[in-house]
Amino acid sequence: MIYLDNNATTQPTSRVVEAMLPYLTECYFNASASTAAFTGADKPQGEAACAMAKLLNAEEPDCFTFTSGATESNNWVCSSIARSRKAGRVLISAIEHASVAEPAAEMARSGFEIVEIPVDSNGLIQIDALRAALLDDTILVSIMAANNETGVLQPMGDIGRLIRERCPAAVFHTDATQAIGKIPIDLQSDWQDIDLLSFSAHKFHGPKGIGGLYIRPGLELDPLVLGGGQQHGLRSGTINTPALAGLAIAATEASDSKAKAIRDIRDSFEASLLIKFPEAIIHSRGVPRLSNTCFFSLLGWNGEDVSSLLAADGIIVGTGAACSSGAIQPSKSLRSMGVPHEVAIGGLRVTLSRMTTPQELGELLERLVQIENKN
Ligand code: PMP
Repeated sequence: MIYLDNNATTQPTSRVVEAMLPYLTECYFNASASTAAFTGADKPQGEAACAMAKLLNAEEPDCFTFTSGATESNNWVCSSIARSRKAGRVLISAIEHASVAEPAAEMARSGFEIVEIPVDSNGLIQIDALRAALLDDTILVSIMAANNETGVLQPMGDIGRLIRERCPAAVFHTDATQAIGKIPIDLQSDWQDIDLLSFSAHKFHGPKGIGGLYIRPGLELDPLVLGGGQQHGLRSGTINTPALAGLAIAATEASDSKAKAIRDIRDSFEASLLIKFPEAIIHSRGVPRLSNTCFFSLLGWNGEDVSSLLAADGIIVGTGAACSSGAIQPSKSLRSMGVPHEVAIGGLRVTLSRMTTPQELGELLERLVQIENKN
């Protein structure tokens, strides 16, 4: 199998799997029992929190509350703010993942004013529109750090400074699911204006079903789940020790140090792609984007059909299209960027990991040429 859909999920490393196994076998004990220090079941949560704090340069490990992943964390941000505030204005970008956009739509149904900040034709937030929308009654701003489809990176430092200048009391949340382990993140330097940050371990070679929310010290958030009072009462429920043991290792292994090597492989693939398919459109190529992401369209092609043909040959790529109610919708990001439907429908998303080899991309290209020749 040639796996080139790493923005969808990544392969857990062997060290991640090894770290999880003891907590599924001999050390299956409850991390919140009074005996946890004796059984060792208390270790994974602390190790995961320390590893995340180090990776993102957070103030302290206690800033992290663990959830089942970014979807849950993003929902928590909206539901908590909706519960604790009576009214106000919420700004989200036009290209947010559904796990932000849908809870924001729910807030709109409860009477909050939701404003979508548009992106330009490259997928970058329109800063002037954001500035104009930042009015005194703004309570929450949620802007993703890296887009899952195009890989476009928003200028988080500049956005944070603008929010602080115009609306110092607004909560600034970012969905950093695609950014972690791919770009440097420093919560005490350029990203210091961010109050809340969501992530999922499976996007950086950790296990599925575990992720979390960074909460800036001093920010009070309503609990997500009530019950046994685990995680300082913010998210009750028995601690998922195997997943946290895996997350701890994944966060330790995650580093942007491989970004340059990955970028070189991606860039050389894009150069070869344009030689074989001169009419190919590589989206957001001219702006800062994740070094592992190449989202391109081939005119007259149908991305879904091509991805199925490739999958039948053991090559897995993404399409950026979402299947809703049985109808294929072209990528939300491309639509927000004003890309015409006929171009968006031909979209294929190739996303690399530190395990991807140039040979694998060579095989993909060869197969695309064969598909073209058959048509
Ligand atoms: N946000 C972004 C940007 C994502 O790419 C994803 C996963 N596709 C999510 C949130 C949701 O992550 P999870 O499914 O792990 O909850």
